[in-house]
Amino acid sequence: MGTERYQKELTQCLCGRGTVDEGFWADDHPFGNYNWNSSGIQLNCENCRANWSVQESVANPVLAPSGQRVIYFVRREEQRSVAVHNDGVEKQISALRKEERELRELTGNKLRDLRTELIAKLGQDSRLEARFAFIGPILGIGTKEEFRAKVGKTRPTTYISKLVTARIMTEMFQRMNRATDVEWMRRTSERLADIEGQAKELEATKTLPRSDEHRFTRA
Ligand SMILES: [Zn+2]
Repeated sequence: MGTERYQKELTQCLCGRGTVDEGFWADDHPFGNYNWNSSGIQLNCENCRANWSVQESVANPVLAPSGQRVIYFVRREEQRSVAVHNDGVEKQISALRKEERELRELTGNKLRDLRTELIAKLGQDSRLEARFAFIGPILGIGTKEEFRAKVGKTRPTTYISKLVTARIMTEMFQRMNRATDVEWMRRTSERLADIEGQAKELEATKTLPRSDEHRFTRA
């Protein structure tokens, strides 16, 4: 078992002394059914490589004749400055994503603490009436019958995990008159929405290099 490879000449380089090639590879298959994968295009010319790189997508594309592809020649300094720009954008996006993960983790902790607190309180009196009187108003469950139908014969550890979710946490804190927690939830969800918006905007500022020269592949 090995790996099969071959190279296909796509077009001439800019100076005409070399070529632009595409590499292909396939896992060696015992029955000879190759599934060829492109390993990308390469500029095979020492002379051109000093100043140019080859790309298949650029910021200023041109239309290729039918059945052909366009190989773009991009100046190395252009490629470098675009890479520096995109790296900077990537760094800002990952800082935002890190903050987002931290906020989601804090929200998860808050939910876990709330469940623990409610379960402990419910453990103090095992009568359905007592449990309903405490948790019913917090969950917005109006009647004992409704509560009984929801929790059945399950224990608080089971039904609290099911009924107390991140989605209704803000409402629950409101019903519990916890202004600080309500405010924290409000600020957190606003910040998460901001992060999403900023990350999208940053993503849109990523760019491709501009090309000064191009060649069409051989028909
Ligand atoms: Zn050349």
